[in-house]
Amino acid sequence: MKKLVWMGLLLVMVASTVCMAAPKLRIGLSMDTLKEERWQKDRDIFIAEAKKRGAEVLVQSANSDDALQVSQAENLLSQGVDVLVVIPHNAEACATIVESAKKSKVPVIAYDRLIKNCNLDLYISFDNEQVGYLQASYITKLKPTGTYVYIGGAPTDNNAYMFKAGAMKVLDPLVKAGKIKIAYDQFTNDWKPEVAQSNMENALTKLNNKVDAVVAANDGTAGGVIQALTDQKLAGKVPVSGQDADLAACQRIVEGTQAMTVYKPIKKIAVASAQAAVLLAQGKKVKTNKTVDNGKIKVPFLALTPVQVDKSNMFSAVIKDGFHKLEDVYRNVP
Ligand code: BGC
Repeated sequence: MKKLVWMGLLLVMVASTVCMAAPKLRIGLSMDTLKEERWQKDRDIFIAEAKKRGAEVLVQSANSDDALQVSQAENLLSQGVDVLVVIPHNAEACATIVESAKKSKVPVIAYDRLIKNCNLDLYISFDNEQVGYLQASYITKLKPTGTYVYIGGAPTDNNAYMFKAGAMKVLDPLVKAGKIKIAYDQFTNDWKPEVAQSNMENALTKLNNKVDAVVAANDGTAGGVIQALTDQKLAGKVPVSGQDADLAACQRIVEGTQAMTVYKPIKKIAVASAQAAVLLAQGKKVKTNKTVDNGKIKVPFLALTPVQVDKSNMFSAVIKDGFHKLEDVYRNVP
C-alpha cells in the first residue's frame, strides 16, 4: 500500500515537471527554393543543429514564387514561431515578411541572402563580394588579356550584385588598362542554368565564338555556359568560374571543363544560423563581425569566409571536409 502511495506521488511529480518544462522553441525557416543542391544541405544541417539545441523547425519552400513565400511566412508567424529565418527569393518583396514579423515581435534572420529596406535583425552569409573577387581573380590569372563574358545571378537576389561588385574589383582595372574587354554581360533569371546557357549561346553568336574567358556566378550557371561551349567544341578551352562546389561542378573541374568553384562550407552557415536563431528567440545577442546597409538600416552581419577551389585543392578543401566523396568527384578520372 505504502509502495502504491509513493509511486502515485512520483507520477504526480514527473507529470508536473513535464507540464512546467519550458515550451519547445519553434523556428520558422522560409526558403526560396530547394532547386540547387546546396539548399537541401542547408535545410538538413540547420534542422539537425536546431534540434540539438532543443528547438523545432517548421520549413516552407516557395519555389521561387514571391507571393507564395510571403504567404508561407505569414502562415509560420500565425503558427506562433519564436523566430523566423528567411532565405529570400526576392530581396525587396521579402521586406513585407520582416515587417509582419516585427508586428508580432518575432525577430528575423536573413540567411545567405540579404533582405532590403526593412528592420532586419541579423544577416548571416558568406562574404559575397569576396566570392566574386575569388572568381574573377582566378580567371584573370589564367587569361590576363582578351574577351570576357560575365554571366551573373538572379536580378532579384542581392547576392548577385555583391558577386558582381567583387568580380568588378578585379575586372574593372583590367578593362581600364585595355587588357580585357567585357563583351557580354547578363544576369540570369532565377539562376536558371537553361537561361545561362541561352545567354552564353547569344554571346558566342554575337562574338563569333571569340570568347577567351567566362566569369559565371555559380555552378548552376556555369553548367549552362559549359553546355553552350560544348556545343561549339570549346569546353575546356575557355576557362569558366563557378560557386557552391556542386558535385557536377567538382566533376567538371577534375575532368577539365570548369576552371574553378568557390566552396562555401554549408555546415558553417547552417550551424551558425541555427545557433543564432535560438539565441534571438531567447532574447539574447549574437556576435557579428560586420554590418551591411540594407537601404534602411545597418544590419549586423556575420560574414563567413569562402574558399577558392580548383583541381589542385579539390581534395584538401572539399573532399576532406566531407562535402563530397572522393569516388563521386573522380568517377571518370582514372
Ligand atoms: C547563393 C548561391 C546559390 C544561388 C542560387 C545565391 O544567393 O549564395 O550559393 O548558388 O543563390 O541558388
